[in-house]
Amino acid sequence: MTDSQNRLAHHHASPNKNQSEYVPRPFLARGSKVKRCDDCMLPHWVCICSQVPKLQSDSEFWLITHYKEVYKPTNSGRLLPMCFDNAKTYVWHRTEPEEGLLEQLKRTDIQPYIVFPDDQDGYQNRVTYKVEVEETKTPVFILLDATWRQARRMFRLSEYLQDLPVLSLKPEQVSEFLLRKETSDEHLCTAEVAVNVLALAGEQKNSEQFGKFYDLFNRSYKAGKMNTVLKD
Ligand SMILES: [Zn+2]
Repeated sequence: MTDSQNRLAHHHASPNKNQSEYVPRPFLARGSKVKRCDDCMLPHWVCICSQVPKLQSDSEFWLITHYKEVYKPTNSGRLLPMCFDNAKTYVWHRTEPEEGLLEQLKRTDIQPYIVFPDDQDGYQNRVTYKVEVEETKTPVFILLDATWRQARRMFRLSEYLQDLPVLSLKPEQVSEFLLRKETSDEHLCTAEVAVNVLALAGEQKNSEQFGKFYDLFNRSYKAGKMNTVLKD
């Protein structure tokens, strides 16, 4: 990202009063002429919607999706609500949290975690590497569905996240998800984080099933981009 693009991004992320009701718009960048499936957002000939595994989890995933991610075809966060009925998506705005999210955070039957790397300053006392939840409570994993740059801002600026334990991952594998060129390649995309978190929560089968679906998405995306279909 150039400096001017960076400033532009910050400008969009901090709408003035007249723009506070930001409504995400469909993806308008390169490839926008391609006819896409409304749900998986892949080109229609590689749509994966008929192959969505319906998974039951004892945990809940809440995505806080940066508004710029909402219509991005490369966004892998959207795979979660496709597979898990109890997954929720909230769109992140700079100025105010999603009301529904604040309401959900008041629930007494949950143990929420914000999933975030352990390598930034200022919150080391909140970091944990284990999911330890009382029997009566449901673990909730809050994922920042955004580029790494955006996620850092979201983490810092969202007051409602400041008291939550920070669940950090020590992934064994480096991301193979090369759809986006991030500045730090070692950071996992949202679906990869979810695969790891499910394993940490002891849901090995869900982790594998979801990982397979993510792999299908990944391969279908690449096939779509190359104007071809999956061979297997
Ligand atoms: Zn589809």
